[in-house]
Amino acid sequence: MLMIKVYIDIIFFVFMKVQKIGSRGFLFTFPDFIPYPQVPMSIQIYVINGKNHLFICDTGIEKEQMIMLKDYLKDKNLLSKPIIIFNSHFHMDHIGGNGVFETAQIISHISCRANMVQTMERIKKEKKARLKDKSIAYPTIIFQERMVFPQDNVEFFYSPGHSEDSASCYDQLDKVLYVGDNLVDPLPFLTWHRIDRYLITLQNYCNFDTKVIILGHNLVLNDISFIEESINYIEKFRDFDIDITDFTPRHSAWYRWSFIYIGLDLKDKGKDKEALKYFKHIKDLIRHPKIKPLDEEELGEIEGFLKEELENK
Ligand SMILES: [Zn+2]
Repeated sequence: MLMIKVYIDIIFFVFMKVQKIGSRGFLFTFPDFIPYPQVPMSIQIYVINGKNHLFICDTGIEKEQMIMLKDYLKDKNLLSKPIIIFNSHFHMDHIGGNGVFETAQIISHISCRANMVQTMERIKKEKKARLKDKSIAYPTIIFQERMVFPQDNVEFFYSPGHSEDSASCYDQLDKVLYVGDNLVDPLPFLTWHRIDRYLITLQNYCNFDTKVIILGHNLVLNDISFIEESINYIEKFRDFDIDITDFTPRHSAWYRWSFIYIGLDLKDKGKDKEALKYFKHIKDLIRHPKIKPLDEEELGEIEGFLKEELENK
């Protein structure tokens, strides 16, 4: 019996790091999520042990991660309160373990749920994604602007930016802000064309009284300087005026894909002419040594896509 226990603990250490934050927070970190070739990221899931509820911010990419997290919480006797899962946005690396806690309520912004339903319908048709790795469950409670649990001193609020459906969680007691992908290491990843609105969200973050700011991947911040740098970057990005001299492969990954995703979003909203500006910009830069993907397959995919979008236009 003891042998088995030790073995499980070793697995925890290898695949999941747990860090105590403030008086009632647990930060779970899972390594090696690779959204684009050669850009490994960690996944961070934040848990708040509130007075009446246990809140879980985002659920990772694979259900195994949430199962491991659940085992840890069970081990620490933290599963006695009703569970509230919060989805910061609909991207697959934030909702993959939604269904692991069968009795949980799942909270999201109204458009996050709509996007999830739409994406899952598409994936099921394409049969492309490895859905067996996921435990998908849709939000059961949706909000428009803000939702507060006053007795727990926890609030969720709409904060669009990285995506149109992005929302954040604020622990009023410990002054911890969970921002999902609205802040990304080392620079913002934009997938929504409303850059003006993204800036408002980040400026609003600066007005919060925060001790700790937790990102969906990689970073934990103790002051707002990273937010100010992100605002600075987005203002320059808006004007197509980014200095790429010091870019690393990680910078360039978010840079090139931001142009592609904003172009796609504009196209989706019927703004074809504006979309072309984004596609053209990245087409002209894609073989620049600071922007070119290290991975040939990614380069081929992007060039093929851009050729199709820009042909005869
Ligand atoms: Zn995302």
